[in-house]
Amino acid sequence: MTDLNHTKSQFHLPEGLIYLDGNSLGPLPKTASKRVADTVENEWGEMLIRGWNTAGWMAQPRKTGDRIARLIGAEPSTVVMGDTLSIKVYQALASAIDMRPDRKVILSDNGNFPTDLYMADGLLKSLKQGHELRIVEPEQVAASIDDTVAVVMLTQVDYRTGRMHDMAALTRKAHDVGALVIWDLAHSAGVLPVNLTGCKADLAVGCTYKYLNGGPGAPAFIYVRPDHADTARPALAGWLGHDAPFDFDMDYREGAGIDRFRVGTPSVLQMAALDAALDVWENVDMQNIRAKSIELTELFISEVEANCPQLGLASPRDPQERGSQVSFTFENGYPAMQAIIARGVIGDFRAPDIMRFGFTPLYIDEDDVRKAAKIIGDVMRDEAWDRPEFHQRSAVT
Ligand SMILES: *Cc1c(COP(=O)(O)O)cnc(C)c1O
Repeated sequence: MTDLNHTKSQFHLPEGLIYLDGNSLGPLPKTASKRVADTVENEWGEMLIRGWNTAGWMAQPRKTGDRIARLIGAEPSTVVMGDTLSIKVYQALASAIDMRPDRKVILSDNGNFPTDLYMADGLLKSLKQGHELRIVEPEQVAASIDDTVAVVMLTQVDYRTGRMHDMAALTRKAHDVGALVIWDLAHSAGVLPVNLTGCKADLAVGCTYKYLNGGPGAPAFIYVRPDHADTARPALAGWLGHDAPFDFDMDYREGAGIDRFRVGTPSVLQMAALDAALDVWENVDMQNIRAKSIELTELFISEVEANCPQLGLASPRDPQERGSQVSFTFENGYPAMQAIIARGVIGDFRAPDIMRFGFTPLYIDEDDVRKAAKIIGDVMRDEAWDRPEFHQRSAVT
């Protein structure tokens, strides 16, 4: 069994705050500050450029990739770190399109995160090969997979509602008609038991600053199924994906396997913070995390519904169809969330009317959930949100 009291003790959680936004930015692991300071002072400061070899900076994207592979049901040497998730979406899609030259349809859904759709649209406009980005309702995805589809590109868990796709079933359906599948695990990695190997996903991407707690700006990851990795064209042909970067050849030649999906210089300081964050996962069982996450979200829904008749549940009621977040609709959702934050419960708001709360068993427990639900109930009952300062919109909501 995962010791969740122990994992909670490994995070810096500000006094008097209940943090229900780890699905957007995970909190600071206590060892991360020292790890980053060590990397800055002892490695960058003392080793200078020798750090690439001596401190292993150059190997870090693969080493860290292997640590993440374990958490998403992937084999070692199938995951590499780098860039941001938007870039990795672009790279994965460009590479997948190349593997299906005779097909022109990229299928996604309108529950996908906008950047994934923007990146796809931008890529297709650059390619100018007559591809179509077909965006359907999430419930229509399965029925829309046919033999014209080159690539199905989906985010497993909807960032607004928490609705969850059946990864194994959709991947199977796509493969049955010869399509490839790219899964975005932004709201899955670190909170759901993902099995990339088992479901035979072709490519997957994700970020590490949400449930994995790697800190703001932490690098993204990309997974490529081993039988594609040696033939896939990495599309972003950066020098660190070259077979021999330090030969400085004029011609690009892909590196072996997942290494070819590297692009440029790794973000060493961010990687140090992420590596410290991944230490917390060493003795964590994802099945335990999932079971606890369901307990927490079920408790939260029942407490909030008992206290707040104004709020409508926007997330699936069946926990098997939902990730680790709970969202409610409320027409004054923005000021309501500001008032709740002012009382020490941090969630966030997604336009037009979604109040979103994330549940992260590593450091949130039943006691936190009960207290948070009570505060939300107080704010709603007293209409405490109806004050001018809570209506002021910030740039990041
Ligand atoms: C959070 C998130 C992103 C963010 O992309 P960045 O490039 O890291 O800013 C992209 N896609 C999905 C599905 C997300 O949830």
